[in-house]
Amino acid sequence: MPATHTAIDPADPAAVLAALIRCPSVTPDEGGALACLEALLTPLGFAVERPVFEDEGTPPIENLFARAGSQGPHLVFAGHTDVVPPGDARDWSHDPFAAAVVDGEMIGRGAVDMKGGIAAFVAACARHATKHGGPKGQISFLITGDEEGPAINGTVKLLEWARQRGERFDACLVGEPTNPGALGDMIKIGRRGSLSGEIVVNGRQGHVAYPHLADNPVRAAVAIADLLLATPLDEGTQAFQPSNLEITSIDVGNASVNVIPARCSIRFNVRYNDTWTVETLKAELQARVGRAAADSRLRPGHESAAFSLVWRDRPSPSFLTKPGPLTEALVEAVESVTGRRPELSTSGGTSDARFIKDHCPVVEFGLVGKTMHMVNERVALSDLEGLTEIYEAFISRWFATVA
Ligand SMILES: [Zn+2]
Repeated sequence: MPATHTAIDPADPAAVLAALIRCPSVTPDEGGALACLEALLTPLGFAVERPVFEDEGTPPIENLFARAGSQGPHLVFAGHTDVVPPGDARDWSHDPFAAAVVDGEMIGRGAVDMKGGIAAFVAACARHATKHGGPKGQISFLITGDEEGPAINGTVKLLEWARQRGERFDACLVGEPTNPGALGDMIKIGRRGSLSGEIVVNGRQGHVAYPHLADNPVRAAVAIADLLLATPLDEGTQAFQPSNLEITSIDVGNASVNVIPARCSIRFNVRYNDTWTVETLKAELQARVGRAAADSRLRPGHESAAFSLVWRDRPSPSFLTKPGPLTEALVEAVESVTGRRPELSTSGGTSDARFIKDHCPVVEFGLVGKTMHMVNERVALSDLEGLTEIYEAFISRWFATVA
């Protein structure tokens, strides 16, 4: 155990966060961050394991699983110690891995996304243990080093690894930054799904002055884009905003002004709510593209345009954690510390919670996200203390409801 970590008071979230920021754990490097966590958690009674996962074409990734307690309700805290690169360090007011404190704020890469959340949960566990002598059940840390990267050797494999060892979770708290403006704004209780695709319309190349001898694929592409965009996918649901399709690129790659191109591609991404499953959404989009390709208004005299629709990347499902003991315990904990009732939201991008939801109910609450991934990422020390108090209150309330 490095001597530097033994001197840290685990109940002090600022000291824990400073130690974590000083580990330059830019994905895929462990950077000493998991070793630091292990050194902090072991004296608190956690049994710590650090499985390494690898896959073809991706770097091996170190992860951490730590559990205190051996039976009873199992609460798992999930997060990541890897961070995005700082960019040009000269753009920062202070070294991005120095954890400088200026005007009550700690500056450093990962301060809010999400070493700050981890530090607050470590400190909350330490305080809870001092007061109550350990949890009324089991508390775990499920920490990956691969969230900001390809996310292949991280949470998915760590969850499966834990499942195979017989670990069963009853509830999960993800410590990602969820508050848009101030601590207490927002809890995430679900996420929209994400689906990407590419449509390629095939035409026939030719001279612009002799269009009857060619078939311009841009004409069909315009009709397809119009049908994808003009009719909303849905109007939203009780817990979700309306699904949204964005066309992210339309490409012809034609450098010439007098040539009708041979093909045109349209790339798009859909962020979708619980109106859809991946399958029903794919079917709807496939049908729309087919209808638009057959529409002859922009290409009179031509038969249905030839196109292919290929789904890109791995789609992620949408999910929603229904209000219940887990959300209530968290809402009450936030309210008890901040005096504010947080919004229960499903907004924003995807997160690792989409993998965890297959194992147990999951909610997300962490710091204020304003500076994440930015130059001079920083956290107010008062927020760090506030989050620690919220997490401690949450631990007490959750075990009180389920035990
Ligand atoms: Zn994050």
